[in-house]
Amino acid sequence: MKEKRNVMDKNENFMKALKCRECGREYPLAATHVCEFDFGPLEVVYDYERIKRTMTKAAILSRPQTMWRYRELLPIAGKPTVGFQVGYTPLVKADRLARRLGIRELWIKNDTVNYPTLSFKDRVVSVALSRARELGFTTVACASTGNLANSVAANAAAVGLKSYVFIPADLEVGKIINSLVYGANVIGIKGHYDEVNRLCAEIAGKFGWAFVNVNMRPYYAEGSKSMGFEIIEQLDWVIPQHTVVCMASGSLLTKIHKSYQEFIKLGLAPEAKYRVHGAQATGCAPISTAQKAGLDFFKPVKPNTIAKSLAIGTPADGFYALRVMKDTNGSCEDVTDDEIREGIKWLAECEGIFAETAGGVTVGVAKKLIASGKIPANDSAVLCITGNGLKTLDAVAGSAGRTHEIKPSLREFEALLDLENKVNC
Ligand SMILES: *Cc1c(COP(=O)(O)O)cnc(C)c1O
Ligand SMILES: [Zn+2]
Repeated sequence: MKEKRNVMDKNENFMKALKCRECGREYPLAATHVCEFDFGPLEVVYDYERIKRTMTKAAILSRPQTMWRYRELLPIAGKPTVGFQVGYTPLVKADRLARRLGIRELWIKNDTVNYPTLSFKDRVVSVALSRARELGFTTVACASTGNLANSVAANAAAVGLKSYVFIPADLEVGKIINSLVYGANVIGIKGHYDEVNRLCAEIAGKFGWAFVNVNMRPYYAEGSKSMGFEIIEQLDWVIPQHTVVCMASGSLLTKIHKSYQEFIKLGLAPEAKYRVHGAQATGCAPISTAQKAGLDFFKPVKPNTIAKSLAIGTPADGFYALRVMKDTNGSCEDVTDDEIREGIKWLAECEGIFAETAGGVTVGVAKKLIASGKIPANDSAVLCITGNGLKTLDAVAGSAGRTHEIKPSLREFEALLDLENKVNC
């Protein structure tokens, strides 16, 4: 797809090129994502020397509290035009959950309240759609496990872009309605995500659309770095000892690592040893299975888990996620559906944060890694909680607890009080 419109202000463009992660060949900054020679994924290259001059702590602190305060390290050429309010979600000190998990210090990066669609996907989508508009697209699309569809639908609606979102037909009702309501064209594919993705690769080649996680993937994926930038800034410009990240394609995990590396490179955080740990659901654990077996490559699987947002059996960035865990001395674990439900409950009961199933995966895996000593009890950890529980109510409907039904009578209420008086954490 050729650029139809050139709105680039030279001074605001800190990107140099797209570059193949395998052979290093460079490509123009267009809507393209694979190397023509070896099919390696393309990644954005920045002019760090120039960025270093403008992106100081003081400059960042003077900017609005959104993810766009790290604008130089986000891959658009001009000003953002989609999702001005995204990011800068709370980093919560989670003392009560820390006690329950048996760790000295714990933080929750709470993207359950990201704007506007309550998941970390608003980060990647605002970057991808801003870039898509710079490149002249008027129709946007995605292959999604749910949250991406919600975010593309909402953010496209907010700026008058047409959108097509492709999802597995059997997603949670909450995720489906959260796409339909914005007027997006929602296509439910009778198959799992990997089949949705394969179809989208064909469609992307044929129609002139900006597929945020296909032909726009190099730009899209960079948006995830903002979560890591915020964690560092919110910890007063230090990198956490441990970061636990749930994985679908594995992209977020690799970009958290990249964000830490970039802040070190720019002198915004001191060089430090840190570990990035991966989390998956046992019902879809290709990356975790490979990591635990000490392998560099994963074997594709057929997903079967309540963590549908993470149900990618052939993770596009699985290979690179494995490398990040290896390079940072990180670990990886996976948890069953029951452990996912327990993770959701513990986070809700101890911290008042209601996460979706992916959050249950992260908490459940953190519990395991702390219990096994892979995250030492005396250390400090950040858990990336990426999506909101209101979208996956079905998953905990039977396990969240029960309502006490009584007649409108004081006596019945007092009888109840004698019965129940529990504190959970
Ligand atoms: C998409 C998603 C992830 C992980 O995405 P990656 O493909 O690994 O970058 C994690 N949590 C939630 C809630 C998601 O929707
Ligand atoms: Zn290449």
